[in-house]
Amino acid sequence: MTMTLNRFRAEAHALVDWMADYLEGVRDRPVSPGAAPGDVVAALPESPPEDAEPFDRQFADFERIIMPAMTHWQHPGFFGYFPANSSPPSVLAEMLTATLGAQCMSWQTAPAATELEQRMMVWLAKMIGLPSGFTGVIQDSASSATLCAILTARERASDGWTNQAGLTAGTRHMTVYGSSECHSSIEKAVRIAGLGAGNFRKVAVDDTGAMDPDALERAISDDRAEGRLPICVVAALGSTGTGAVDPLPAIAEICARHGVWLHVDAAWAGSALILPECRWIADGVAAADSFVFNPHKWLFTNFDCSAYFVKDPAALVNTLGIQPEYLKTPGAGAMPDYRDWGVPLGRRFRALKLWFVIRTYGVSGLQAKLRDHIAWAGRLGEAIAATPGFELVTAPSLALVTFRFRPAGATAPAAVDRANQDLLAAINGTGRAFLSHTRFRGAYVIRFAIGQTATRWEDVARAWHLIRSSAHAMEPHDG
Ligand SMILES: *Cc1c(COP(=O)(O)O)cnc(C)c1O
Repeated sequence: MTMTLNRFRAEAHALVDWMADYLEGVRDRPVSPGAAPGDVVAALPESPPEDAEPFDRQFADFERIIMPAMTHWQHPGFFGYFPANSSPPSVLAEMLTATLGAQCMSWQTAPAATELEQRMMVWLAKMIGLPSGFTGVIQDSASSATLCAILTARERASDGWTNQAGLTAGTRHMTVYGSSECHSSIEKAVRIAGLGAGNFRKVAVDDTGAMDPDALERAISDDRAEGRLPICVVAALGSTGTGAVDPLPAIAEICARHGVWLHVDAAWAGSALILPECRWIADGVAAADSFVFNPHKWLFTNFDCSAYFVKDPAALVNTLGIQPEYLKTPGAGAMPDYRDWGVPLGRRFRALKLWFVIRTYGVSGLQAKLRDHIAWAGRLGEAIAATPGFELVTAPSLALVTFRFRPAGATAPAAVDRANQDLLAAINGTGRAFLSHTRFRGAYVIRFAIGQTATRWEDVARAWHLIRSSAHAMEPHDG
């Protein structure tokens, strides 16, 4: 039994109805499932079916086995981590991308995808007010973009020698710098690049979680004095814990003085640069060598879609380009072959969803949504600060609020941590909202990140009410 195109047509129509119903009704589902580890595996046959199975049975199993164990990221009550928001036009584009099933590794294998990607990167650069001189390419994730940045910095520092000879014994140790609040993907990239986690420096931060440039200067100077070769600083615009903004102008000056690559990781906060009133956070970005932000986080575009901008595309291509005979294409050179701009050879057609999203909302429509998210975070922050028993950890950063519960009578840090852990578990256990946590300056902190496509102020207010009532239920009561 194969799926005939007639059958495909009928099933697809039914699925689109299911998709619209899902988006309409996701608000009424528990945000996170009560699934126990192993539930899904136990419900799946140990071996693949020998014979064909009808699609309706497959779909019934999808609803029976899969759906009850999904965390609903597109739920309006999802406030955990950072958003990975989607939107109807993005989903439609993904359906077309899947149908075309094209490999977009070179211009010849996908001329339209290559040229649309080129144009979309120009649009995005304009939308976020990136200074001229940057060229963009879509990567699967910010982690990959940061790896590309560190690899390119390594090749620049070794004159392309490392790619040829490897990191041989006797060469100077290369060092990389990020703040103590920087994303884990940076240390991972340092490891993958073969530099060694021991050559990654976590630079001290100030009270807001932003990198202390004096500490950076000292770390770089110390490494140089001891014969090491500093090659790259990764500055965060919007740290993962508290949304802290590293001071780019001071960091850029240090990088320029020491000849060190400056990579800017704005994975989440970069989307806010479409708002002129938020552009101050990127002051100094003109001096960066590379910059990454994720439309797949906060710009209504399905994962995966990470926008990586570089000053010197030739340096990137010299680092990652490779030309086996079977990939040589006539006329190569007039248009980019994006396979040489990243790690994997194969690439999905990811520019299409950006095109649909940007045109469906218009820049002004996207701006209006982000402005709402940021304003609601400000309102929530004020409410938290004004409520006895609660405290803000840092001032809200864009649409991220970090706070702590201060139960009456609990003073020992471990007891307060414990109460916050219990509070988070209680909130998430209701299924009505979903928050996540971090540690900041050693303390357990609850994070409230606003950014889902369907979220309204009432959802934020309802979640805040839930937080208060859950906390109240935890306080000791008389009688
Ligand atoms: C989310 C995030 C990342 C990782 O993004 P991926 O696209 O999932 O790799 C990196 N840095 C920061 C600051 C982030 O918030």
